[in-house]
Amino acid sequence: MMGAEVSIMAIYEFECRACGKQFEVTMGMTEHDRLKEQPPACPDCGARESRQLVSTFNCKAPSKY
Ligand SMILES: [Zn+2]
Repeated sequence: MMGAEVSIMAIYEFECRACGKQFEVTMGMTEHDRLKEQPPACPDCGARESRQLVSTFNCKAPSKY
């Protein structure tokens, strides 16, 4: 079974509360659900103190119909 699953990837921006580093994490919607319990670790200092900024979706809406 391949290709039946459509995974929507989105870019999430985070800011580390420990060092102020802003970083992006690309992940699927299902993975994002888990972030409510466990935020991603900061790539700089490794602290799991990140908070989410605005989320930008990969799939852009068409500008015209
Ligand atoms: Zn950090």
